[in-house]
Order: sequence, then structure tokens, then C-alpha cells
Amino acid sequence: MLAIDHARVRALLARERDTFDLLHPRSRALAERAGASLLGGVPMNWMGRWPGAFPLFASEARGATVTDVDGIEYADFCLGDTGAMCGHSPEPTVRAVRERLGRGVTMMLPTEDCIWVGEELARRFGLPMWQICMSATDANRFVLRIAREITGRPKILVFNWCYHGTVDETLMTSSTAGGVVARPGNVGPPGDPRLTTGVVEFNDLDALERELATGTFAAVLCEPALTNIGIVLPEAGYHEGLRALTRAHGTLLIIDETHTWCAGPGGATRLWKLEPDLFTIGKPIAGGIPAAAYGMTTDIATRAGAEIAETPEADVSGIGGTLSGNALALCAIRATLEEVLTDQAFEHMVSLATRWQVGVQSVIDAHALPWHVHRLGCRAEYWFCPPLRNGAEAAAAVDHELDSLLHLYCLNRGILMTPFHNMALMSPATTTEQVDLHRDVFAAAVDELTESVS
Ligand code: PMP
Repeated sequence: MLAIDHARVRALLARERDTFDLLHPRSRALAERAGASLLGGVPMNWMGRWPGAFPLFASEARGATVTDVDGIEYADFCLGDTGAMCGHSPEPTVRAVRERLGRGVTMMLPTEDCIWVGEELARRFGLPMWQICMSATDANRFVLRIAREITGRPKILVFNWCYHGTVDETLMTSSTAGGVVARPGNVGPPGDPRLTTGVVEFNDLDALERELATGTFAAVLCEPALTNIGIVLPEAGYHEGLRALTRAHGTLLIIDETHTWCAGPGGATRLWKLEPDLFTIGKPIAGGIPAAAYGMTTDIATRAGAEIAETPEADVSGIGGTLSGNALALCAIRATLEEVLTDQAFEHMVSLATRWQVGVQSVIDAHALPWHVHRLGCRAEYWFCPPLRNGAEAAAAVDHELDSLLHLYCLNRGILMTPFHNMALMSPATTTEQVDLHRDVFAAAVDELTESVS
């Protein structure tokens, strides 16, 4: 097996950075100007975390294609880090939103669309009762409150190197000494992480049982497969064990399907027959319009309903949001679920992701690299090591230089990958040609990377 020569990686990265500079004079000029009024030169800090010296400025996006301000088109496998898994500006959602915009956006009153949406969410994901909010972060915050309220327990348990949005209790990791600490880069955590959070490794039922036995955890909040530290799939029997142990210890199970919705029309919950007590989803659910949803079992709804919906002080319960569930969001969710992220669309998306995975695997095999590529439905990702069991192993295998090189190599050849990962997502608008272009560019990058040591 070949090891990657990091001197070669650095040399190629320097060349690709020069190419990036040459290709993007207009983005560079805008980035310089933006730096005078926007922190980091961007409206939201993640937008600065692409591999070039300055961010690309986008001009427009349609379907699975983004065009930047220098007029360059990209096959978009980032898809707004899942926010555009439905494709950019899907026509049915745009039509519904245009029509709604002229008839009232936000009234603090329900509109009829909410009934269709509640019924469809119940049909797809199997939980009977729903609420709508603005973002997946919101959804996670709200279900954690519900879980603490109805169990009377203070803490939540998460998996090491999870990501569930900017939810304070989840921005924690395990220290090498074994305790819980704030994640590196966690800005101004509000308190001692050990008071709010426990952290265990994914795929480790013994560790999970030890923590749950303390009787202090209101809920386990988890993605059904990790997707934010590479794709880490559950081992056979893991979900059955997780469900049995949470039930045995009176801890609620919250499944966050914001990313793993990629598994299929009903997410991993339907595909793997999971039985969460609470469920969260966001990002592409409204075709790119800010919206998210959380669902619950009848039992949770009965226990939580009195607190959330029936007390006179419910508007200061920590659950809500003035713009949550507004008419625009509801019509966008309806159009997206009814006409865009359909069963048929998922079939197309999953088959393209399979093609993407096979293409990348063929390059890895041809070069005998010790890398792997995983897929979950319409999402696939390669990682620079053999398959891993948990977040700690995946975090230890991160290679920032190699990551940056492959991102930039793709970007300079008309392909956008998700920043912070080597992850690719397919939309209903993604094409076979885009997938094959990625395979060819990836092959060229790996050829160049390995030629000096072969
Ligand atoms: N849950 C998961 C699994 C996520 O990956 C993310 C964002 N990457 C979120 C929740 C939060 O989504 P948002 O930033 O849209 O609130």
C-alpha cells in the first residue's frame, strides 16, 4: 500500500493556490472589500472556511450547478452543506414561495399548509406529532428542553465528534484523560460541560450502558450514522442495543436526521426501522427557505403538551420563535416534500451516489491506497484511512493538508465539495456527467499525488 508523501502534498497545494488566485480576480476584489465591514469578510464565519486564500463569491445557483462572480460554473456536490439537497431553487418550491410572498409571510397564525405538512411528516418518519421551527439547531434545542422537562433529569448524552448545530450542550468532546471538555474552538461556552453533557464513542454499547446507569441523562441525542466526522456507519445490532438500553434506563432517544435524511425519503429512521422518542430534521426541508421540524411519539406529546401548549406563560418557555412555522416556511416545506424530495427523486439521487462511490473506490483500488469511501443513501465520502468505528478514530485520521489539496484541486476544475469534509451529496438535479467528472478529476489528483512515490 502507498503512503502519501506530504512534501508532494504541500507542493501541489501551493500550485493549486496560485491557480485559484488567477482564476478568481472578482471574488478576490469582493473579499477584500467585504473584509472592511464583515467579520472575516463573510456574513457567516463558515463561509470563509473554504480552501482558497479568499472565499468564492457566488453569483447564482440552479439545480446542481453554482456559478461564481468570475463566471465559472461548478458541479455542486456541497449543496449548501445539505441545505440544498433538494437542488438549488427547485421549481415547485420557487413557484409556491413566489405565490405566498404576495399573500403574507408571517402572521403568528397557522395556515392550512401546516396540516398537510404535519400529516406528511408523520407518514414519512413515523412519529405522529410535530412542531415547526427555523433551523435544525432550534429543533435540537427544543427537544432537549422537552426531554429535560419530562424526565426531570439534567444531562444529555452525545457521541464523540458529533455535530447537532450550535447547541451548547453538544459542543463537547472527550478529553484524552476521559472527562468531558468543551470542543476545541468552542467560543465562550456558557458553563462547565460536565454539568450538562456526557460523551461516549459511537458503536460502543458498554460505554453507553455505563453512562446511562448513572440515571442522570434525560436523552441521548444522536445521528443514526455519524456524518460530521466522516460517515461512520452503525455496526450490526448497534441501534437495537441503543434503543434497548435507553428504554431500560428511562432515557429518551432523540434521532437527528438533518443529514441522514440522505438515507432515503423517510431517512434512516424508516430505512432501519428506528423507534426514536423525539426526532429532528432541518436544512433542505423547505427547499432552502429557513425551516426545520421536530416530531415526537404520542406519549411524549401527552407529557410535553401541557408544558408547551397549555400553560399561560408558554411564550417564555424557551421553545418557540416568532417566525417559526410561518406561512412562507410551511408552503415551502409542502412544495419541497410533495414535489421535490419525492421517492422517485431519492431513487435517482441514491443511484448517482452509488456511481460516485464506485468511481472513487476504483481510483483508490487502482492506486492501492489505504483509504475508504462510505455511502449513506445519496451522500458519500472518502476518508484517508481504512473504515473506522467511531468519532475519536475518525478525528485522529483527519489530514488537513490532504483535505485542502483535494478540495482545491476539485474546485479549480469545476467541482464544489463540502468544506471541512470530502463529502459529496446528490440532488434530484445532479447528473451522471457531474459524477463522472468528479471521478476523473479525483483520479487525476491521485495520479499526481502518487507519481513521485510510485
Ligand atoms: N444536526 C446535524 C446532524 C447537522 O449536521 C447540523 C448542521 N450541519 C445541524 C443539526 C444544524 O443545522 P443548522 O446549522 O441548519 O441549524
